[in-house]
Amino acid sequence: MFTLFKKKQKEVTFPPVTLYNTETKEVETFAPLSEKEVRMYTCGPTVYDYAHIGNLRAYVFADTVKRVLLYNGYQVNHTINFTDFGHLSSDADSGEDKMMRGLKREGMDISLESMRTLSDKYIDAFKRDIEILNILPPSQFARASEFVTEQIKLIETLDQKGYLYETSDGVYFDISKFPGYGRLGNIDIHALQEGARVEVNSEKRHPADFAVWKKSTLGWDSAWGTGFPGWHIECSAMAFATLGKQIDIHTGGVDNMATHHNGEIAQCESATGKQFVRYWMHSEHVQIDNEKIAKSEGNSIILQTLIDRGYSGDDYRYWLLQSHYRSKTNFSYEALSAAKQALSRLKRLMFVDWKDERQTLNTEKQQEMVTIINQDMDTPKLIAWMHDASKDETLSVGERKALLLECDALLGIGLSDDPQEGLDALGVIAFADLPQDIQDMVTGREAARVARNWEEADRLRDALLLKGYEVTDAPEGTQVRKVQPAQP
Ligand code: AMP
Ligand code: ZN
Repeated sequence: MFTLFKKKQKEVTFPPVTLYNTETKEVETFAPLSEKEVRMYTCGPTVYDYAHIGNLRAYVFADTVKRVLLYNGYQVNHTINFTDFGHLSSDADSGEDKMMRGLKREGMDISLESMRTLSDKYIDAFKRDIEILNILPPSQFARASEFVTEQIKLIETLDQKGYLYETSDGVYFDISKFPGYGRLGNIDIHALQEGARVEVNSEKRHPADFAVWKKSTLGWDSAWGTGFPGWHIECSAMAFATLGKQIDIHTGGVDNMATHHNGEIAQCESATGKQFVRYWMHSEHVQIDNEKIAKSEGNSIILQTLIDRGYSGDDYRYWLLQSHYRSKTNFSYEALSAAKQALSRLKRLMFVDWKDERQTLNTEKQQEMVTIINQDMDTPKLIAWMHDASKDETLSVGERKALLLECDALLGIGLSDDPQEGLDALGVIAFADLPQDIQDMVTGREAARVARNWEEADRLRDALLLKGYEVTDAPEGTQVRKVQPAQP
């Protein structure tokens, strides 16, 4: 499916990849630390519940960055982690552990074994989601509970270097020891001090000091008693263990930036004395009615709900990529239906009209395409360009087909699927497989069209839609697809 990535782009020289670095607030030209491979870390899900469609944007985004790098000939070593303990309901150190919340919700007992069972369930669900969304599997998934030794070692290093202090409920990183804390998003630590008059934990020296270890009756043994590592230390230790002490790209959603990622920078750079991440990249939120999708807002929708309503992973991914990753985007079923329709037009070209065309790559147009996407992952512009290219009559059909396939390598929207699978995905049903009453209506509509009785043809088309069948007129004849029944 991803054969395009196997070939090296030797014949053509592409313009450099540029990307927006949240740390410098500039679009920068990408240069990897090592020629051999790009090292990329993506903050993964807390596996206490199903991911909602907003969460999934963070992974479609990371996948797009990766596809662009692969297309440009880079090797990518990519880690996505699973947080299977230690992420409290607040991004700071107060609140309930999300995994505990999950255990209570599912009526399970509070133990490490149950946490394992709960996280197994949601890890499987997450893997299924990313497969549905054509997200390339990472080089490795890293599960926090399997890297506890590494996390404890990192805490010990910080302790030996004098960055930590102990309180009755945990061990904290003292941000006053790390000059420049809050580089991402220019966090003003004095303002934080001012804003935290009612500090929950009076033993903390500064409200932005964060826990690297939380004491608890449940958890692992350590020099600081039983408990569990803090959420930030998890990601740092897993990045170090799977990718090394310095990495090229670290991605996450914008809400990871202020606390989680500033915490990671402070502890990693204190431990090694070196820059941890060269490029920080963050994707914006998906909203509904201008509110961020969040489980706590009660407005979350999961991918399976979209599937149940007749949309595919490709449809949702296409809809997401119509917005630039740094813009907020408002989800609605109307917008998703429009995306589905636009994508179906392209799929129809690929799987029906151009099915038997031989593809010929026009390298000048390919350059044009790469120039667009290499500009900080400009997927909305690439999608518009792709539609134009599909209609460009100065190009042969074979050239247009090839370009759509190249776009698909970058966007992952299902245009390069097996034609039969593609047809199935389009939901095209062979006439003989339709129920008798539907066959009669389709035949009736054909007859009305031949007789130029447009009124009757339209009436039958609408009646078919009410029954959940959409009729379209393709060059090879009428096609019928199963859709959500229209509302009368
Ligand atoms: P969590 O499982 O809560 O750790 O979140 C997983 C990822 O989803 C993180 O990268 C968050 O920044 C991201 N995220 C959370 N809510 C949204 C949203 N409404 N839209 C886009 N990304 C989100
Ligand atoms: Zn993380």
